[in-house]
Amino acid sequence: MEKVIIVRYSEIHLKGKNRGYFERVLILNMEKSLKGLKHEIKRRSGRYLVDSFEESETDEIINRLKKVFGIHSLSVAIKVPAEIENIYRAAQQVCFESGSFKVSTHRADKSFSLNSMQLSAEIGGRLLAENKNLSVDVHSPSFTVNIDIREDGTALVFNEFFKGAGGMPVGTSGKGMLLISGGIDSPVAGHMIAKRGMQIDCIHFHSYPYTNMQARDKVVELAEVLAKYSCGTKLNIVSVTKIQEEIHKKCNGEYMVTLLRRFMMRLAERVAKKCGAQCLITGESLGQVASQTVEGMTSSNSVVENLPVLRPLCGFDKDEIIERSMAIGAFGISIRPYEDCCTVFLPKHPVIKPSLKSVLEEESKLEVDKLIEDAMATLEVVQL
Ligand code: ATP
Ligand code: MG
Repeated sequence: MEKVIIVRYSEIHLKGKNRGYFERVLILNMEKSLKGLKHEIKRRSGRYLVDSFEESETDEIINRLKKVFGIHSLSVAIKVPAEIENIYRAAQQVCFESGSFKVSTHRADKSFSLNSMQLSAEIGGRLLAENKNLSVDVHSPSFTVNIDIREDGTALVFNEFFKGAGGMPVGTSGKGMLLISGGIDSPVAGHMIAKRGMQIDCIHFHSYPYTNMQARDKVVELAEVLAKYSCGTKLNIVSVTKIQEEIHKKCNGEYMVTLLRRFMMRLAERVAKKCGAQCLITGESLGQVASQTVEGMTSSNSVVENLPVLRPLCGFDKDEIIERSMAIGAFGISIRPYEDCCTVFLPKHPVIKPSLKSVLEEESKLEVDKLIEDAMATLEVVQL
């Protein structure tokens, strides 16, 4: 019997006149995620059907589609001609060996000879008569046999709903530039914004040779995790070694992190504009560490000329962030030991609530424009 995958959208159906646009982006994103696997995607009213795939690749297709934002749920179904004997045989296939169950029928084609209740009773009755280990429970069954009679004369029969990633199709909310470190937070921040339909490009700052190549590989791997949700990503890598050396040489050490953040934001904005990104995204969470105070954010924000800075994790506790990091498959990579450039030359007592005036005073000891130009010259791009 032919197997198909039913793909149901999430919020897209709310988008009124824009619905066609959202649907087209979603189908493109599904195609990208299934690249390399044999399949065909067909649009049906209010849903998609994936068919013509290798049965042995069913799990792989489901796992990939579970990462595509804009999908509400998925089911693997048996597709048969909408005729009672065929529907019954398909129902036998998806029926468990034992347990309580119910049959739930939905008819898009109202001309089918039986109404929904009658068809459910007919199929349920037959399944029950055939297997003594089954019982019917319409209120809280241990599984459900779902029958969907379509307008095209076919019926889809299935027992499971896999939860999709939800959100909006990536690409429908523009593009953002994520400042990605090797830590736990920034990949989660990128994932949250991608979920709302934003395509994510990344920028990472390193202090090679003070930080090592493993630290860089780790960030590439984290960006790869993100790429699966963001339909690919571009990882921009910039050296801030010289900037850190200059701060270390000329400024009060307590301002190292605060000043470095300002350079990161300037560089991120420059690269964002080059890539057509419309905002910056960071993994900051209010009060989490010394540099993530509102004063610290004021200081780093004030160098950004005209892009909004999104900080989706601001209101999250660390354990909530860790939970999300695990769910998206980033945690195992994030916890590998590594040196972030911020930990190089780390002062014993970083300034916690830097006043903008004192930050500007320290920064005036540096040739900011020249340092930015030199850092931009180290820009390297990895397409993922
Ligand atoms: P993360 O877990 O994302 O590293 P964190 O809690 O360690 O966050 P910080 O190290 O203070 O926090 O960094 C705050 C934010 O600044 C990060 O979430 C990230 O967006 C950005 N950032 C920090 N270091 C880097 C870096 N080396 N390259 C790019 N962005 C960085
Ligand atoms: Mg960090």
